[in-house]
Amino acid sequence: MARSDTGPGQAYASAAPLLYTPQVNINFLQPLLEAAGPSGFEARAAKVWSEEAATFAHRVYSDHYGNVYAELNPDAGRPIILMGHLDEIGLMVSHVDDKGFISVLNLGGWDAQVLVGQRVRLLAEEGDLLAVIGKKPIHLMEASDREKGSKLEDLWLDTGLEAEDVRRRVPVGTVGVIEQPVFTVGERVVSKALDNRIGAYVVLEALRQLHGAGVPRRVIAVASAQEEIGAFGARVASYQLDPEAALVVDVTFETAQPGVDVKKVGRAEFGSGANLSVSALTSPKIVKGLIDTARRHEIPYTLSANPRRTGTDADEVALTRAGVPCGVVSVPQRYMHSPSEMVDMRDVQACIDLMAAWVGELPETSDHSR
Ligand SMILES: [Zn+2]
Repeated sequence: MARSDTGPGQAYASAAPLLYTPQVNINFLQPLLEAAGPSGFEARAAKVWSEEAATFAHRVYSDHYGNVYAELNPDAGRPIILMGHLDEIGLMVSHVDDKGFISVLNLGGWDAQVLVGQRVRLLAEEGDLLAVIGKKPIHLMEASDREKGSKLEDLWLDTGLEAEDVRRRVPVGTVGVIEQPVFTVGERVVSKALDNRIGAYVVLEALRQLHGAGVPRRVIAVASAQEEIGAFGARVASYQLDPEAALVVDVTFETAQPGVDVKKVGRAEFGSGANLSVSALTSPKIVKGLIDTARRHEIPYTLSANPRRTGTDADEVALTRAGVPCGVVSVPQRYMHSPSEMVDMRDVQACIDLMAAWVGELPETSDHSR
């Protein structure tokens, strides 16, 4: 999810059942999460995703911008697209000083507080380098500074190498991502980059279900590039595909975590299923269709209100050409934009099942107009 210029509005939880059984394709999900793919530099994650897609999709391809596509029934007319962005937030090197300390800029919306003490994988041309994010020790701080938050410009990356080697191997413009292993506990998965690799996972797993069910429609799963810096990949992809309709998957705020005001963001706790955005930018017919489908199949869901923008790729897709009818399906997530994001696979499964059921039951030609 990218930062939006408008706050989310009030939301209402459904009375859906809390028990839902996930099927986790960990052999796909784990490498997808571990692959380094910051905005604009998604190639490694794209490789994992497209190799998995090639095991069943009728056509797998990419564009020069970094979007990756997996398609069913390529000759069956205008497509329905399922889009989840592939990029993760990262850092970009802006300067290397005489001692070899590296300054960086945000590639996406980091809170500098969560970066302190982390390790960074720099995607250097001669091979990856690990660096630590340094900060002045508490002992050396003025008493007043101890109370203050860190700013990115006061932090630095340290590879442990001498300045000469750093300058050669890490030129300005080198990008990096947080280095953190994946772990699972019960139904929960903790990782960097869950925002929004989990969405890229959802769209491909939904496509796999549709393939298994033999749906005749043209459906394209899109792992989009550069969402975190402005949903640029979505703009390119949706123009190219000219879809009949789109479902966009991203993460949203899980609301049992401390400090969340449900009056502002609504209720979407772990285990509550798929979260559906109601927005001026989403299609009322698609939202209603998703709700009806969820009820019929007993798939748990919640609703959240985004009066203007949704803060997802849908904001670009909906404004493509003459306008594309969109639905936004979100996975509740804790610790968004941190090295340790957390989701519950029951909610992930609800998103997959709901999207597959909605697409699978669309009539041959459907009218999504208001
Ligand atoms: Zn995000």
